Amino acid sequence: MVTLKTNDWDAIVIGGGPAGSTAGALLAEKGRRTLIIEKSKFPRYHVGESLMPFCYFTFDRLGIVDQLNERAYTRKHSVQFVTRDSQMSAPFYFFQHLDHPAATTWQVKRSEFDELMLNNARDKGAEVLEETQVVDFIYEDERVVGVIAEGEDGERSEFRASITVDATGRDSLYQTKRRWRKRDPKLNKIAIWTLYKGAKRDPGLDEGATTVAYLEDRGWFWNIPMRDDIVSSGIVAERDYLYRDTRDLKEIFEREIENNVWVKEHLSCGEQFGEYWVTGEYSYRSEHCASDGIVLIGDAFAFLDPVFSSGVFLALKSGEMAADAIDEALAAGDTSASRFNDYGEQLCGAIETMRNLVYAFYDNEFSFGKLIRAHPDLRGKLTDCLIGDLVDKDYTDLMSAISEITTLPEPLAHGRVAQPSKI
Ligand SMILES: Cc1cc2nc3c(=O)[nH]c(=O)nc-3n(C[C@H](O)[C@H](O)[C@H](O)COP(=O)(O)OP(=O)(O)OC[C@H]3O[C@@H](n4cnc5c(N)ncnc54)[C@H](O)[C@@H]3O)c2cc1C
Repeated sequence: MVTLKTNDWDAIVIGGGPAGSTAGALLAEKGRRTLIIEKSKFPRYHVGESLMPFCYFTFDRLGIVDQLNERAYTRKHSVQFVTRDSQMSAPFYFFQHLDHPAATTWQVKRSEFDELMLNNARDKGAEVLEETQVVDFIYEDERVVGVIAEGEDGERSEFRASITVDATGRDSLYQTKRRWRKRDPKLNKIAIWTLYKGAKRDPGLDEGATTVAYLEDRGWFWNIPMRDDIVSSGIVAERDYLYRDTRDLKEIFEREIENNVWVKEHLSCGEQFGEYWVTGEYSYRSEHCASDGIVLIGDAFAFLDPVFSSGVFLALKSGEMAADAIDEALAAGDTSASRFNDYGEQLCGAIETMRNLVYAFYDNEFSFGKLIRAHPDLRGKLTDCLIGDLVDKDYTDLMSAISEITTLPEPLAHGRVAQPSKI
């Protein structure tokens, strides 16, 4: 039996991760009656600890910069790259480029960080239902008018709203139901990761740097030093390469540590703890970002690749952009898909810029060193991309310089709002 809970929400946000909490907090702050429905009980584990500097501007708008400072998360001043033979490139220090508090960002413990963000949405007036899973959407005349959710007791309830926001992360509830998921043809890697205690840290400013250490054939390790002497370490590579002689995640991880001296030296003095996690074929973008009565944000819309730590930034930014578009749509009394045209254009544009960098990264012929040696004047523009200055920016000159070294992908044609006939 399905019970009708209430009919009078302006917005229902499904998922209380960074995207959903951002959209929920901003809508509630604007006085919109907002309900966030989250299937887990926070705090809960989540991967994705390394932030991009431009996350700062959303945090500032949400009013949580002081709280983030108080949590004493590891400060991230740079990203550094380590070659297969353990040569360290000069780190990209964000402060050399950006004279602003945003130039220092954080390596966060996601369980705690996500809880902080969800509580912030609550404090701003959003109602939050945890341990409640949205299982379906309610349609009227092909428009989404709400959701059906199941509580821990198995009881199903209907919740209705003028607009529904899908922020369900990689579960991507709406794109899965509509069969809108489209994999990125070339970015078909997998990732295996775990945590270490007591691993080696670099000295001084580099202590909190994210390190990208190369393996064979453009596989790579990430090393993210976090608070409490914990390091998040993971490998990203082709499935066939990683699974070539076993499917045991621990064995694969330990085998690959031997393939990069820097990684071995940093991890071997630490102790691995907890699980080994794996995720497969992770790059996708939805056919559409919105249809009548519903908008997709964060990973529920698209996910690219962990290499430049753009996931949380895009989750926050899309949450922010969607909240602004929704507020205007509610004011106009029209939450049809066409209200989100600009949202789709801007978000796809930002993702394409990052996607070009990701494709370049995976080409053996390309390196940032090569690019900057050939075009020293573009160092600033490249850094702009790497810190997350991605929305409504023209990077034509940077991209044409990159394409002198590697072939860039055609922009994906999909991701914009659904036309009424496609709903
Ligand atoms: C291997 C790997 C490493 C990564 N490393 C980084 C990194 O270092 N830096 C970075 O910025 N990004 C990284 N990312 C990406 C980052 O984790 C995501 O981009 C980010 O968490 C997206 O936020 P979100 O709010 O869209 O989704 P999520 O954070 O996944 O939140 C979605 C929420 O929705 C809830 N939910 C799902 N389905 C339902 C439902 N049916 N009903 C109710 N609730 C539901 C979930 O419980 C969850 O809490 C990484 C990703 C991977 C795969």
